[in-house]
Parts: sequence; C-alpha cells; structure tokens
Amino acid sequence: MTATNQRTAAEQLDAQDPLRELRNEFYIPRLPDGREEIYFCGNSLGLQPKRAERYLKEELDKWQRLGVKGHFDADFPWMPYHEFLTENSAQLVGARNTEVVAMNSLTANLHFMMVSFYRPTKSRYKILIEDHAFPSDHYAVESQVRFHGFDPEDAMLLAKPRDGEETFRTEDLLDLIEREGDQIALIMLPGVQYYTGQVLDMKAITEAGHRKGCKVGFDLAHAAGNIPMQLHDWDVDFAAWCSYKYLNSGPGSVAGCFVHERHHQDKDLPRFAGWWGHDKRTRFKMENHFVPMESAEAWQVSNPPILSLAAIRGSLDTIAQAGGVEALREKSLKMTGYLRQLLEAELGDQIHIITPAEPEASGAQLSLTVKLDGLSGKQVFDRIEKAGVTCDWREPNVIRVAPVPLYNRYTECFDFVQILKASLDND
Ligand SMILES: *Cc1c(COP(=O)(O)O)cnc(C)c1O
Repeated sequence: MTATNQRTAAEQLDAQDPLRELRNEFYIPRLPDGREEIYFCGNSLGLQPKRAERYLKEELDKWQRLGVKGHFDADFPWMPYHEFLTENSAQLVGARNTEVVAMNSLTANLHFMMVSFYRPTKSRYKILIEDHAFPSDHYAVESQVRFHGFDPEDAMLLAKPRDGEETFRTEDLLDLIEREGDQIALIMLPGVQYYTGQVLDMKAITEAGHRKGCKVGFDLAHAAGNIPMQLHDWDVDFAAWCSYKYLNSGPGSVAGCFVHERHHQDKDLPRFAGWWGHDKRTRFKMENHFVPMESAEAWQVSNPPILSLAAIRGSLDTIAQAGGVEALREKSLKMTGYLRQLLEAELGDQIHIITPAEPEASGAQLSLTVKLDGLSGKQVFDRIEKAGVTCDWREPNVIRVAPVPLYNRYTECFDFVQILKASLDND
C-alpha cells in the first residue's frame, strides 16, 4: 500500500470508530500555528473533558450564590459530594460501591493503606515491590519500613525482570512469592507498569500472595481508566490510583482508593483517622469517640476538595457516556494494536517496543527505545515534539506513547509513525 492509501485506511478506521464523537467532549491542545497537537500523553496528564469545566463552574457558581449553604442546598450538595463519584469509580475497578472512595493523593493513599495493611512481625516483615518502581512508591515503602524499625536493605524485596529482559514473567513473580512468601507482609505492585506499559496479572499475584498469607495491594496509577479490572472478585486487599492520567481530572486532582469489603468490619485495623472517616450519621455530634464507617470511606480523613471532585465527576460521566472502561478497552486494543503494527512494519529495525505484545499484557501505552548509531532516543524525542507530537520521555531511554481511546484517532497513529520515521532519519 502507498502512504496515501494507508492514510485513507486510517481515515476509514476513524469513520467506523463507535467512539469517534467523544473527541468533541475534550479540549485538544493546539500548536502555535493553530493545528491540533497529536496528544499521546494521556498516560501522564489526560486532556480536559468539557464536562469537567462545566461541573467546576457550577460549583464555583454555587459557592458564589450560597456560601456555606452549598453543603446542603442545590443539586449536588457538597456534604455527600464524594458519593456522587462512587458508582462510576466502582465500575472502573470492578468493586462494590462500598469499596471505593475518592480522597487525598495517590502517594498519600498508599501511606494510609500501608498504615492499615503493612503490619510487620519479627518473622514476616518484608514488602515485595519492583526494583524500578515509580520513585514515589519506592520512597513510600522505604519510609514505612523504616517507620516500623526495619532496614530497607533487608525488608524491601525488589522484583526484577530476568537479565536481558525488560518486563516481568508472571511465573517468575509467582515463584518469588512462593519462595519468599513466608517473610512477606505485603505485596505492592503496579497494575500497569509506568515505564514499560506492562499489565501485570493482578488476579494470579493476589492468589499467590494470599496462599502465602501476604496482604496484596496495587498501585493503579496507569491502570485506572486504561484496563478493566475486577478488584473485588480478585480479592485484592487494597488499591490506590490517581485521577489525572487516564481519568482526565486535572493536574494533581484527588485520587481513588479501594479497600476490600472483607476489611470493613475489622475494628482492630490500625488506621490514621480523621473526622470524615467517622460514621456519617453521628459525625456532626462532634464527640471524641471515633466510630469508623463500614466502608472504604472509613479511611477518609478530611472533608474533600469539591472543585477537584467536580472535575472527576465530569470525567467519570464522560467515560460512562462512552460505555465505561470496557468500551474504552475495546477501542484501545484495536488502536494500540494498529499503532504497534504500523511501527513494526515501518520502523521495526530502528526502534524496539518494550511493552509486551500480548494484548492481555499491555494497555494503551507503547514504550519505545531507539536503536540507532549516532542518534539518541532523547534527540528523536525532541524532534517529534517539535513536529507537533506530545508524548513523553522517561529516563533512562524510553519514549512513551499512549493513544487514548476517549480522544485519539487512528489517523493520529498513522501521522505519528510518519513523523517518527522522518525523525529517525540521520542525514
Ligand atoms: C503517576 C504516579 C504516581 C504519582 O503519585 P502522586 O502521589 O499522584 O504524585 C505515583 N506512582 C505511580 C506508579 C505513578 O504512575
């Protein structure tokens, strides 16, 4: 096929895309010359849904008109505002409504979860994480380990891919858990690895961990809004995710948290409490005896930032309009598969895709390294950025590209590959 014919094929894929209209629900950044960027960076900061803007303005307006009465009056009163996010959040991660809550930030939630679920003893005190976890996760785990008086050198068990390999083999992770499990208090792994884009087998890891008596939690920063999950059925103990990546809720927006219902009645769990985790029926009696909610809301500490929740509600409603994360995943598999196929056909000898090729082991993101003498990956990245592509560069040497099913198009995948091709030209 000629390049022109191939672009026509991409245009046809766009025309047949059942989600094509959703792009109009988002603001697409533009280049100085007025053209729309090819925005493949929704894995880092999702674009702004128009609904998020609308809902935010409604809350600003409510605050102007009603002041403190906004807590109770009007359509979406602030007092129970987080509850308006519950159902859509639960669907995203495959949870019961009582198992999810929007609160804090991602790293803060990991800390709160570890306060409750990392309960080391003399013989079982290790935390299994990846060798190259996202730094914030590593720091959080390291500081928790120290907080309990253990030495991170000993108490942090770092999972690594095999020598010469970039991604994990599920059987290796399961072997590690089987071998070391008696000493592991907590397994904390990503649902989707931020650097490689690999989807881990959360169900198998949870089963293996529980067989050995470990608690199992997941960081879903790159999984929420990207792949469907069944946290409840998989019996995951806890999970946390941010809302500004595939969940398009704006920079630093409030995070999500999952706690399995089997922990909701356990009054002995240690926790760092606050008034918003207290039983809402008696919260405003302002008494000194803490009675936790029997839900994930028990882990809330503060009354939440409504402006941020409004943006999340706008984004979650937009995802619901698309048919939920299952509908997104259907397009995502096709679109990311299409991009991979084009990259391999056109540039297979100049780039390497480290994201696993199996559909069940990858989400919307492809992580590329450049295999060229005399041209570094960073130089190539700078060139494609200059040509109107927004994706991201992650040290030490990966270009991450994420076609997002809510607002990206097949033609953008096609145009991206042409731009990358031109950028790899060393002459
Ligand atoms: C994006 C991301 C974070 C960011 O943490 P914040 O607390 O939201 O700043 C943490 N961990 C992982 C794995 C991430 O991908």
